[in-house]
Amino acid sequence: MVNERGRDGPQGGKGPVTIFGPDFPFPFDDWIAHPAGLGSIPAERHGEEVAVVGAGISGLVAAYELMKLGVKPVVYEASQMGGRLRSQAFEGAEGVVAELGGMRFPVSSTCFYHYVDMLGLQTRPFPNPLTEAAGSTVIDLEGVTHYAHTVYDLPPLFAQVADAWELALQEVRFADIQSAIRARDVGTLKSLWNDLVPRWDDRTFYDFVASSKAFSSLSFRHREVFGHVGFGTGGWDSDYPNSMLEIFRVVMTNCDQDQHLVVGGAEQVPRGLWRCCPSRLAYWPAGTSLASLHGGAPKAGVARIARDGDGRIAVTDAWGDTRGYAAVLATCQGWLLTTQIECEESLFSQKIWMALDRTRYMQSSKTFVMVDRPFWKDKDPRTGRDVMSMTLTDRLTRGTYLFEAGPGQPGVICLTYSWMSDALKMLPEPVDRRVRLALSALHKIYPDVDIASHIISDPITVSWEADRHFLGAFKGALPGHYRYNQRMYAHFMQDGLPPEQQGIFIAGDDVSWTPAWVEGAVQTSLNAVWGIMHHLGGRTHPDNPGPGDVFADLAPIALPD
Ligand SMILES: Cc1cc2nc3c(=O)[nH]c(=O)nc-3n(C[C@H](O)[C@H](O)[C@H](O)COP(=O)(O)OP(=O)(O)OC[C@H]3O[C@@H](n4cnc5c(N)ncnc54)[C@H](O)[C@@H]3O)c2cc1C
Repeated sequence: MVNERGRDGPQGGKGPVTIFGPDFPFPFDDWIAHPAGLGSIPAERHGEEVAVVGAGISGLVAAYELMKLGVKPVVYEASQMGGRLRSQAFEGAEGVVAELGGMRFPVSSTCFYHYVDMLGLQTRPFPNPLTEAAGSTVIDLEGVTHYAHTVYDLPPLFAQVADAWELALQEVRFADIQSAIRARDVGTLKSLWNDLVPRWDDRTFYDFVASSKAFSSLSFRHREVFGHVGFGTGGWDSDYPNSMLEIFRVVMTNCDQDQHLVVGGAEQVPRGLWRCCPSRLAYWPAGTSLASLHGGAPKAGVARIARDGDGRIAVTDAWGDTRGYAAVLATCQGWLLTTQIECEESLFSQKIWMALDRTRYMQSSKTFVMVDRPFWKDKDPRTGRDVMSMTLTDRLTRGTYLFEAGPGQPGVICLTYSWMSDALKMLPEPVDRRVRLALSALHKIYPDVDIASHIISDPITVSWEADRHFLGAFKGALPGHYRYNQRMYAHFMQDGLPPEQQGIFIAGDDVSWTPAWVEGAVQTSLNAVWGIMHHLGGRTHPDNPGPGDVFADLAPIALPD
């Protein structure tokens, strides 16, 4: 089956909206697709070991690209390969999975899809609320239930909310920014975006909604409904306290629309990179993969990182094995550098430590069950409607998603996907009780449907904040956090750093401008690849400059301290 992505096609001679900037508008997708490759390192450094802490997507993209340059990545993983792209199979049903981390990937994530397509993975539209892929949607707020296929089936208040959001965004020149992204017009994009950064860094998403002209002429109820149904995927009120800059980035780069799932599970992407034998690679013989370089498995988790006597960086794993490296890339969440890993303080400046430690994580919980068949497509004989639908509600479950695995296959229900306070309500509960709580909330919406009678196999649940290898689901920057993000993001440019701070790199969701979206983890990992290549004395091909080559011109705006 062909992947039919890219509904947001070119417009007016311009390209599609992609995650291009807005903070650092570098064409990462063109850089990785260019026939000249990412660059080269001096032959005498071929085979040199570089440590990569974490086998999530950012660690494995970096390891894969570094291997192609002739480096020997040594990957360490404390928990499961794939990190927050975790697809857990239901017992006895191979290929039928619960997506515990990332599950819906906007088509604007062009670097992520570069690797998805390279690995030959199949994708299809994600069953988001009010989309064709969902079929039908139920919105249940304050005990009133609406059944809809599109927004036009809902009462007029919902269309008013959608219109108000569009108008509110126009107050910050949303259309002009998207047009600059489509055209990859760096000058216009930077001038429009750099104007918003100092004005909105201090303000929350809720502030934006409440103070916009569009919403302030409407009722509180409109804001409340927006928080639950919102744009794209719904449930955005969990982000109301977040920095508005983060929400701008989501909507301006179309993160919240036209999303696909990876058939069989997103974890196939990091695992595929681990096994993939690139057709073109420096130094290593054909048939080399990350798996073959590691004898099949990554090294154990990292317990300590410190400068050794030779000026190299010593990495000690959980079993006490210490190796020295010219460069180390840390892709685990930043808080782990002060909790799980004993990291020598002088490796980072105090400004970077401040940024790492102030990083704010959002909580998230998901609970899945496998069911005998996609029974939700049965019709209610009284109404002719689907007996159950993709559901957004103000009840405990917040979002319920329905997945078909294919003809004759069992179905999967994500009974509840929630964030922040809704996720904390589930935190102390074991999986069976989480299922019962979710079923009880859904029973109030679907009193005639006996969901429990369809459940087969054991349920699966996750609370990322309860896992010591994560401590949270993803970053969600608060007002005033722009400077921290800017410091972490720019850290791969190390020429100006004192020698004792050079050689250790950071990448991943924490460093990204678009946390909670995998594309940012991939793009920051590509920055680190450039940084490590440069650190090892390498350079890019003149036809294909990399992020560090153009950083001085494109760098995210710095705000005064
Ligand atoms: C609930 C949830 C929903 C999401 N939904 C979406 C979505 O729908 N769409 C989207 O695009 N993105 C989504 N994301 C975001 C996306 O999953 C992440 O941005 C991305 O997977 C992060 O990758 P990473 O490599 O930066 O970090 P990680 O995947 O966390 O990788 C870091 C790795 O480091 C390992 N580690 C920790 N400590 C150590 C140690 N001491 N030694 C060695 N290794 C260590 C961890 O085990 C982990 O494997 C979601 C994330 C979550 C949690």
